[in-house]
Amino acid sequence: MLKGKTALVTGSTSGIGLGIARALARQGADLVLNGFGDAAEIDRIRAGLEAEFGVKVSYEGADLMQPAQIDAMFASIGKRGSAIDILVNNAGIQHVAPVQDFPPERWDAVIALNLSAAFHASRCALPAMQKRNWGRIINVASAHGLVASAEKAAYVAAKHGIIGLTKVVALENARTGITCNAICPGWVLTPLVQKQIDARAAAQGISADEARVSLLGEKQPSLEFVTPEQIGDLAVFLCSDSAQQVRGAAWTIDGGWTAQ
Ligand code: NAD
Repeated sequence: MLKGKTALVTGSTSGIGLGIARALARQGADLVLNGFGDAAEIDRIRAGLEAEFGVKVSYEGADLMQPAQIDAMFASIGKRGSAIDILVNNAGIQHVAPVQDFPPERWDAVIALNLSAAFHASRCALPAMQKRNWGRIINVASAHGLVASAEKAAYVAAKHGIIGLTKVVALENARTGITCNAICPGWVLTPLVQKQIDARAAAQGISADEARVSLLGEKQPSLEFVTPEQIGDLAVFLCSDSAQQVRGAAWTIDGGWTAQ
């Protein structure tokens, strides 16, 4: 279904981004991976995706907190003769603290990666999409793009912000073949969440298993984690022709979190 398309998935060396990259590759899309990690491990992931799905997979190590590196990444992709048809703005970080204790530099970092990077990547990707009159921009927001939790000021602000950005990009391109939508996952068991489980276990003197159950119990009525594979399949749907009129949506996949 996506043969001949090229997808850039930011933060795809791990977690949800890797799940989305795998799902798009399964549909035949060539991939540009991005994210941090051990160089040998990233190359193993890159080569593994090529072998498993028979697609071309390259890697760009841009630090998306640096807007100049985002421009340079798109220039490098262009130099290789590729253009991005599908942009998945997924890279993100978390920091947990009450507002009065929130380190200003962590606020800046969370906003830079979870919100501003999606603006800069969209700004760089749109001209080539507009030229071809086809494109998909998928922003990985969160249940925290729709509702808040204590101690997550920067994350909640960034995720609410990215849903606003999604709507603007969708409207500006509404009469074209370019759609822009957000996916709003609930808890997914990735390294980002494992850190919060470990912190909860340490703070409450409970085991990691107990912390996992209490984390889910607070927010996610299904009491089950969402999986990166499920989010990948939703991204594939948003790339399909059937989703051509899905524009500016904030699509939940959260075990019922935001239904409460
Ligand atoms: P993760 O920590 O597993 O992956 C984050 C990815 O971002 C990694 O590939 C990492 O290398 C990359 N990254 C970090 N800093 C970067 C930078 N400066 N430049 C480029 N890449 C960078 O996290 P995840 O849980 O897979 O989260 C992915 C997205 O999903 C995030 O936007 C997150 O907010 C969102 N999300 C996660 C959950 C969850 O429960 N895990 C829920 C809702 C939304």
